[in-house]
Amino acid sequence: MAIRDALGRIQERIQEACIRSGRNRATIQLMGVSKFHSSAEIEEAWQEGIRLFGESRVQEAVEKFTPFKQQHPEIALHLIGSLQRNKAKTAVSFFDGIQSVDRDELISELGTLTAQRDRPLGILLEFHTGEETKSGFLDTEQLYRATEKVLSYPGLVLRGLMTMAPYTDDTTQIRAAFRSLVVVRDNLASRFPACDWSCLSMGMSQDFEIAIEEGSTLIRIGTALFGERYL
Ligand SMILES: *Cc1c(COP(=O)(O)O)cnc(C)c1O
Repeated sequence: MAIRDALGRIQERIQEACIRSGRNRATIQLMGVSKFHSSAEIEEAWQEGIRLFGESRVQEAVEKFTPFKQQHPEIALHLIGSLQRNKAKTAVSFFDGIQSVDRDELISELGTLTAQRDRPLGILLEFHTGEETKSGFLDTEQLYRATEKVLSYPGLVLRGLMTMAPYTDDTTQIRAAFRSLVVVRDNLASRFPACDWSCLSMGMSQDFEIAIEEGSTLIRIGTALFGERYL
């Protein structure tokens, strides 16, 4: 019941942000970020219509979602947390998409592991806009090189970009972070027009309305949907 109410409020806020910015609600996907939350809560979110889930850690995702994926094969599960090399093999076989592709060596690793796939693995390149996280490519030049690398692996397919805005109350700074992701996406789209840059994964519980106003197509919501995380 708590999740149903929370989702209702989130949907209203998404709708209002769409109205403010003249956007169509149908162009924005809502991901439920279920890290540290139980299988029962995930099931509840599923019952309320959430079909896309995000997890930060490979092992936790495998434990919680192995039975769940068998019961609900239509689910889409993305990795949104930093991926270590030694977990890449499991990640490639378990996730439907990886949003946190943040360095060249990881692209090579994922490209090698996906060489034999029938369907390529969808990935997002992570762009660094926040101060406190160190993950993500730092500028357009790095992203150009990363894109060329992705294009050399047939098992990988680009879908767009992801970022985490700085953790701050300063909405000007948050908005600037999201705008910089859009600028970088536009640069990439003119340099690599044949690639799919349609996904802009930006916006979390604290800042998803700003993200929608700035063009987000995928918001990643944990706390506002599931409540606080307890370790
Ligand atoms: C945890 C996490 C989220 C969700 O954060 P909330 O503030 O709880 O909505 C979104 N994106 C990433 C990359 C995360 O690690």
